[in-house]
Amino acid sequence: MKISIIGLEDTRFDRPLQLIANLFFEESLILKQYDEKADISIKFSMQINEFVTVSAELISLSGKKVTAEYEKELLLGVSDKETFKQIKNAVAHVYLTVLQDFTGMIQKWGILTGVRPTKLLHRKVQEGIPKELAHQQLKDDYLITDEKINLMQQIVDRQLSVVPDLYTLQKEVSIYIGIPFCPTKCAYCTFPAYAINGRQGSVDSFLGGLHYEMKKIGQWLKDKGIRITTVYYGGGTPTSITAEEMDMLYEEMYDSFPDVEKIREITVEAGRPDTITSEKLEVLKKWKIDRISINPQSYTQETLKAIGRHHTVTETIDKFHLAREMGMNNINMDLIIGLPGEGLPEFTHSLAETEKLMPESLTVHTLSFKRASEMTQNREKYKVAERAEVEKMMELAQVWTEDHGYVPYYLYRQKNILGNLENVGYSFPNQESIYNIMIMEEQQTIIGLGCGAASKFVDPVTGKITHFANPKDPKTYNDSFEAYTEDKIKILNELFSEKGSPA
Ligand code: SF4
Repeated sequence: MKISIIGLEDTRFDRPLQLIANLFFEESLILKQYDEKADISIKFSMQINEFVTVSAELISLSGKKVTAEYEKELLLGVSDKETFKQIKNAVAHVYLTVLQDFTGMIQKWGILTGVRPTKLLHRKVQEGIPKELAHQQLKDDYLITDEKINLMQQIVDRQLSVVPDLYTLQKEVSIYIGIPFCPTKCAYCTFPAYAINGRQGSVDSFLGGLHYEMKKIGQWLKDKGIRITTVYYGGGTPTSITAEEMDMLYEEMYDSFPDVEKIREITVEAGRPDTITSEKLEVLKKWKIDRISINPQSYTQETLKAIGRHHTVTETIDKFHLAREMGMNNINMDLIIGLPGEGLPEFTHSLAETEKLMPESLTVHTLSFKRASEMTQNREKYKVAERAEVEKMMELAQVWTEDHGYVPYYLYRQKNILGNLENVGYSFPNQESIYNIMIMEEQQTIIGLGCGAASKFVDPVTGKITHFANPKDPKTYNDSFEAYTEDKIKILNELFSEKGSPA
């Protein structure tokens, strides 16, 4: 789809124009000039005084014409960046409206293309805006549908009930620990995940680096008297390493981190059932790991094969029972909507199998085509469901979870996600993952240790976020973990200095 855009010369509009076009068309090319061969041409005009007024006229090659106009009072006395954001939103508003009218397609998330829509609602709660007004603003300013606004509200309410001090947790931090190994690499995966077989040397060096980071950061936290809210072991698959290596790692955590007994939650992703053994479960229990994740993704064997997950459906079920028998009582399971070859019947089957297990939480992802994944690079090999069917599966997940006592407690969106939908974490009340809430709502610093671990430093006073990423591949990590640890401590020192620490 060639889209000719007239009247928006500023290059800062390019990205939002492209992102919104992607919501409607598989492949779209934006031309910032008149082109008579373009499938559609959209002419914008704009007036800026104390209001921003934008109008757009869309004309298609076949002569179909739609128009839209939007006016919004400008918030004055803010930075140039903030002012432009308001103008950009007004442009996005009319652009989305003409594209919706032209295609007949409604974008349930309106003009939002970002990862964390619930943050918007949290901000309004923090500003003291009454619920009805906040909802009206989300609808008017961003064109979000009632259905999604209600979902946001449900999630925000749930999060504040699970973490009542969510808005004042800046004085604490959470820790993410990345273990970059998996038994094999899944086709949709872009995480740092290296097939573990034959890599023992690399695993040993990596763990050496990780222990070092845990010691140093743990010492820093102890020195500053900073508490840890949650710890999350992800990757990769943290249970790919041996039971003995896991044992030493958790021992390190208890030795190095401050007040481990007071940490609200420790999660270990045991995502791939083929990595779970009774010895490893024993180790998890020994160190009082509260929460694990065993991820089926699908209960259809052919699908698992097609996406490169070399484990069987039976193995997932058996390992779930094993974990239960060994006393794990907060288990999350992930499902993915829209895996290649899957439609409503397969997803219905996955939910029916889930019903037999009833994990404490169920995370329902929608497949996204991440640029670097094997699946995206060979997209023609992977046939996925149409948008309407993906939407039906999502609706089914909503109804099914509600009927079975689960409530949604976090959500996030990704680029190139099927049907422009979202990933939603559901759980039984009071079994939610606090770490997931922390990572989504960005209210506190998360320190990333290990391979590919992303740190997110949230200034305790201004809320400004700084990102910092450890190297993704084990070799680079092994060569440079000391320098990366130093850099993180430097940033932490600045953030949590006397001047920076909140009262
Ligand atoms: S198990 Fe998870 S981290 Fe490992 S390759 Fe598959 S999707 Fe990636």
